Amino acid sequence: MPALANNELRIVGFLCNWCSYGGADTAGVARASQPTDLRIIRVPCSGRVDPLFVLKALLNGADGVLVSGCHPRDCHYGTGNFYARRRLEVLKRFLPILGIDPARFSYTWVSASEGQRWQKVVSRFTEEIHALGPAPRFEAVEPLAKACSWTQESKGPVSVISPELLEQLKKAIADKLPELDCVLGWQEGRDLLHSVPLFIRSEDDLTKLRCDATCHNNLVRYLPDLKGQKVGIIVRSCEARSVVQLLQEGLISREELVVFALPCQGLLDLPRLEEALGRYQRLEDLTLTETTLRLRVDGQERVFQTADFRQSRCEQCPGELPAIADQSFGDFSGQTASQTLPPELAFLDSLNLQERMGFWRACMERCILCHACRNSCPMCVCRDQCIAESREPHWQSAEASVKEKFFFQIIHALHLAGRCTGCGECQANCPVGLPIFALRAHLNRIVSELFDGYQAGCDPKAVPPLLTYSQEEAHIHERSWE
Ligand code: SF4
Ligand code: SF4
Ligand code: SF4
Repeated sequence: MPALANNELRIVGFLCNWCSYGGADTAGVARASQPTDLRIIRVPCSGRVDPLFVLKALLNGADGVLVSGCHPRDCHYGTGNFYARRRLEVLKRFLPILGIDPARFSYTWVSASEGQRWQKVVSRFTEEIHALGPAPRFEAVEPLAKACSWTQESKGPVSVISPELLEQLKKAIADKLPELDCVLGWQEGRDLLHSVPLFIRSEDDLTKLRCDATCHNNLVRYLPDLKGQKVGIIVRSCEARSVVQLLQEGLISREELVVFALPCQGLLDLPRLEEALGRYQRLEDLTLTETTLRLRVDGQERVFQTADFRQSRCEQCPGELPAIADQSFGDFSGQTASQTLPPELAFLDSLNLQERMGFWRACMERCILCHACRNSCPMCVCRDQCIAESREPHWQSAEASVKEKFFFQIIHALHLAGRCTGCGECQANCPVGLPIFALRAHLNRIVSELFDGYQAGCDPKAVPPLLTYSQEEAHIHERSWE
C-alpha cells in the first residue's frame, strides 16, 4: 500500500509517449510501489507541453505539476525535449512572480526502461507536494490591500524636443513623403496632455506632428498591418527594438521601411498623472520641461515634477541611437542607458509568495478584460486569432472571473517571453492603470539570465532564444533526483 494513500493531493503529470509513459508503465509492470496522487496525461513529446498547460492546471486546482520526457539526445523527434527544457525552465522561474511556489512544478527525463527512476521521481515529487500541502486557490486568496502602492524612485528627466529639432524632422519627412504611402507619428489627442497616432500622408498633416513626452503610443504596432506599403516611422530607442524584433521574425520588410530616429530622455506615465490630477473640465495650457510639467486646468495652475511620473519602461531604456535608423535627429549622447528595475517589479520582488498572489488578485479585481494591453502590444501580431478568444482550442471561458482574467495576463506574458521589447505599451494603455508590465519585465529578466544577457530587439540577426536550443545549456541546471 503506498504510504500516502487516502490522503491524495491533485498532481498532474504530462508524460511523453515514447519514454516517460513507458517508464511509468515499466514501474507498474514491475509492481513498484508508487503514490496514487498523479493523474497522467500522455503527450506525444515533452516539446508538445505548452507552459500554459502547466499554468492552467495550477490555476484550476492542481497542487503540483510534473512534466517528464525522454533524456536529452534521446528524443523520438530529435530535438523536442531541447526546446521543452528552455520553455520549462523559463516557466519554473516565472512562477514565483505570480505567487506560485516553484516547488509545485518540476520537469525531468525518464526513459522507457527506467522504471526505478520513475518510481523515485514520482515518489519524491509527491512527498514534496504533500510537504507543501494543498495549493492556495487564486480566487480564494486575500487581495493585497497595498497593491499598487509602490513609490516611483526614478529621478530621470522626460523628453522635450526643441522647436528647431521638430522643424528639422518635419522637413526630412516632407522630403521623403513623395516616395512613401504614409509616415507614422503623433498628434494632439483629446487635449494638450494626450497624444494619439498620426498617419502623415500630406504636408498638411505634418502641421499636426508632435513628438514630446506625452507621445507614448508605440507606432510599431501598426507596421504588420501596413505590410506591402512603403511606410516611414518615427521611433525612439525602445520602439526601435520593436521594429528590430518584427524584422527578426520576418513580419515586416526592411525595404518597405524608412526609420526616423529621435533621442528620448523619458516619457510621462499618463494614467498615474491623471490620477494625481483628478477630474477636470478644461485643460487650458501645458508647459513641459525635462523636469517640470506646468498645467492650467479649470483656471488653476498645477505643477508636477516629471521624475515622479516617468514611465516604468524608461527605467530599462536601451539608451542608444537605434541601429536601424535611416535618419536621426538631435543629440543621442545625452540619452543614458538605464538598467534600473521598473518600480512595480522591484515592489513585487519585496513581497512573499502569498502577498504576490494577493497583489495580482487585487489587480485582477480591477481588470475589465478590455484586451487593450494585448491590442496595443506591437508583438501581438496574431491578435485577430488570439487564443484568449478562440473556441477551438478553448483556452479561456467567457467568464470574467479573477482567475480567467489572470490567465489572460499569463497567456500574453508567456507568448511574449523572449520577444517582449519592454516598450511598456501594454501597461500604458491599460484604462485602469494595472501594473502588468511587471510580468513582462520579470520574464525579460529571466530570459536575460538564462541566455547570456539576451534582450529582444537588439540584434536583427539573432534567433530568439525560445525558438532555438542548445544541446548543453550553460545556465540551466537540471535536477538529478539522486
Ligand atoms: S508585452 Fe508590453 S512591453 Fe512587451 S512588447 Fe508587448 S506592449 Fe511592449
Ligand atoms: S496573447 Fe498570444 S495569442 Fe493572443 S495575440 Fe498575443 S501573441 Fe497572439
Ligand atoms: S488593459 Fe488593463 S483592464 Fe484591459 S485587459 Fe489589460 S489588464 Fe485588463
